[in-house]
Amino acid sequence: MKKHNFSAGPSILPQEVLNKASEAVLDYNGSGLSLIEISHRSKDFVDIMDRARALVLELLGLEGKGYQALFLQGGASTQFLMVAMNLLEKKAGYLNTGAWSEKAIKEAKVIGDIYEVASSKDANFNYIPKGFEIPSGLDYLHCTSNNTIFGTQMKSFPKTDSPLVCDMSSDIFSRQLDFSQFGLIYAGAQKNMGPAGTTLVVVREDILGKVSRTIPSILDYKKHIASDSMLNTPPVFPVYTSLLTLEWLKSVGGIAGIEQENEKKARLMYSEIDLNPLFKGFATKEDRSFMNATFTLEKESLKETFASMLKEAGISGVNGHRSVGGYRASMYNALPIESVKALVEVMSELESKA
Ligand SMILES: *Cc1c(COP(=O)(O)O)cnc(C)c1O
Repeated sequence: MKKHNFSAGPSILPQEVLNKASEAVLDYNGSGLSLIEISHRSKDFVDIMDRARALVLELLGLEGKGYQALFLQGGASTQFLMVAMNLLEKKAGYLNTGAWSEKAIKEAKVIGDIYEVASSKDANFNYIPKGFEIPSGLDYLHCTSNNTIFGTQMKSFPKTDSPLVCDMSSDIFSRQLDFSQFGLIYAGAQKNMGPAGTTLVVVREDILGKVSRTIPSILDYKKHIASDSMLNTPPVFPVYTSLLTLEWLKSVGGIAGIEQENEKKARLMYSEIDLNPLFKGFATKEDRSFMNATFTLEKESLKETFASMLKEAGISGVNGHRSVGGYRASMYNALPIESVKALVEVMSELESKA
């Protein structure tokens, strides 16, 4: 039986994507060859890469606006470094909203000077800082749109005269935004787009080429753009599977369509957290993530009962991150609302037993 998959990442993908991806591993498009045993320079794969890059820009509403989409390797974690390598000359600003922001800051510090514009570390990152001042003249301002571990999400983005760089690993393609406010967006595929193994980078070309250092080729966005995201062998299977997910997303109404579903799921989840006296939400209400709901169980004594009820209901992946504890329900694009209903049912049943 298929489980209700609330995993925080790698995470749930649409069933039809899994089916098509497995078919392609055995025989790509009736070619008599597997997708993963053909040349990445073959017409079949070049076509996959081109379609994936174009569809990213189409879904984000960034076609013809000077942006390029790249499918790279090394995870979002490599972007922590690559962003700084390519954009940091004198000083960059960072908004510190959680563990991933902290890691981004740590890596950028290897390259240059960092100014932390605001932080919510004082409250274990349960909120998004607001009303802070941003100095002008920063090389860029880096933020994390969704804090996967803590369950907070930025509902609006700072206005600044510097390029805005955003780690969107855990909420890309989940909600409508004016994506042209960002100079660079990056996201590891494994939360909302595909399997682990590729990282999406969307960059406005005019912000590149302004630093004086020599950038090693594999870390140079310009080189990746010049070679159509095939500077070296690309991760062919993750790119193809991501393309399938993007095609699925388009078929369900694109970002506008999925946003409505995501809102329904989040409303259902948070109303149970708020109304059920056994549970308590972790994140400040106004900053709650629509992707990752974090909460705790008030009565420690019910922990085991809850765990066995979850298991019984086929619910998987809801244990919280060790730095927050409790529970985390990740409700990425591909998670059906039925799964949220199943979880909410178990929570209310626990209440009736308590
Ligand atoms: C998961 C995650 C990362 C790390 O991604 P890797 O691909 O494992 O390097 C970075 N940022 C955010 C917001 C994440 O959720």
